[in-house]
Amino acid sequence: KKVLFSGMQATGNLTLGNYLGALKNWVTLSDEYECFYSVVDMHSITVRQDPATLRKRARALLTLYIAAGLDPEKNCIYYQSHVSGHAELAWILNCYTYMGELNRMTQFKDKSAKHADNINAGLFTYPVLMAADILLFQADVVPVGIDQMQHLELTRDIAQRFNGVYGDVFTIPEPYVGKVGAKIMSLQDPAKKMSKSDENPNASIYLMDDPDTIMRKCKRAVTDSEAQILYREEQPGVKNLIDIYSACTGKTPDETVKEFDGKGYGDFKMAVGEAVVSVLKPLQDEYARLEKDKAFIDGIIKNNAEKANYFATKTLRKVQRKVGFPDRI
Ligand code: ATP
Ligand code: MG
Repeated sequence: KKVLFSGMQATGNLTLGNYLGALKNWVTLSDEYECFYSVVDMHSITVRQDPATLRKRARALLTLYIAAGLDPEKNCIYYQSHVSGHAELAWILNCYTYMGELNRMTQFKDKSAKHADNINAGLFTYPVLMAADILLFQADVVPVGIDQMQHLELTRDIAQRFNGVYGDVFTIPEPYVGKVGAKIMSLQDPAKKMSKSDENPNASIYLMDDPDTIMRKCKRAVTDSEAQILYREEQPGVKNLIDIYSACTGKTPDETVKEFDGKGYGDFKMAVGEAVVSVLKPLQDEYARLEKDKAFIDGIIKNNAEKANYFATKTLRKVQRKVGFPDRI
C-alpha cells in the first residue's frame, strides 16, 4: 500500500475550512492508503499557546479525527510530540534548507505580521518541520488545502536535494487537493482564508457550532450588491458560499448555480446553512459519544504512538547513517 501523511495543528477549534479542505478528503482516501494522521502539536507552539488549553485542544482534535470517520485501528492517529523522530529529522533537514527558500514562504509572512511580538525561529522553520513530518513516513501523498501547497513544494525540493546528495532516501510526496472546498474563505472577509486562529468568531463556522449558530453565521456572511448567484471572482463572498454548498452536497459549482438561478441571497444563505448543518450534525453526535470513552481514546493514543515511532525510526536511522552519524553499538 502507498503511504499517506497529513496533520492539523491544535491551535483552535476546527473550522469548516479544515473539514472541507482536508479532513473530509482524509476519510475518502483512508481505505486506499496506509495512513498517518497526526495532531501536530509541535507546530502549534510556533504561536504562543496556553498549556492547559493546548493539551485540551490536542485531545479534542484527535477525537475529532475519529468522529469524522477515520478508523483508529486502520489509520495511525497520533500526537506529533509523542514521536521524537519529527524533531530529529527536522534538525537534519534544517541543514539542507536555505534561508532564502524559507524567506519566500507566504505563511511566514502572514503569521509574522499577525504575531509581530513573537517572530520566533520556529515560526520561520515551520515548513522544515512539516517536511520532516511527511518524509519521516516516506509518504507518497499528502492531502492538504491550497494554503499548504507552497510548503509541500518546498518539501519536495528538500527531499530531492537530499536524494541528490545521498541517493534514494526519501519518497517524493505528491499533494492531493480536492476539487471543491480546497480553499474556503472567511465569511466576514472573502479575501482571507477561513482560519481556526481568526479572532472574529463570525468569520468561521466551527465544526462544533450548533445549528442556530451555523444558520446565523451563514445569514450574516458578507456578499455584495449584485443580487445574482454566479460563480465568479468578482463576487468572492457568493463564490465562497457556492463552494461551501457544493462541497457539502456533493454538487459541482455549476449545478449549484443552476439550482439557485433567480433566487435571492436570503434563500440561498438559508440553504447553505442547512447543508452545513446536515454535514456537521452526525459528526458532532459521534464526537459527543467518543469523548466520554476515555479508556478507548487513551488506548489509541498509546498504541498508535508506538506504531508511528516504529516507522519513523526506520527512516531516521537510514538518514542518520547517510549524513555520517556514527552507528549505534
Ligand atoms: P491556523 O490559523 O492556526 O494556521 P488553520 O485553519 O490554517 O489554522 P491548519 O492546522 O494550519 O489550520 O491546517 C490544517 C489543514 O486544513 C491543512 O491541510 C490546511 O491546508 C487546511 N485548511 C486550513 N484552512 C483551510 C481553508 N480555509 N480551506 C481549505 N482548507 C484549509
Ligand atoms: Mg494554517
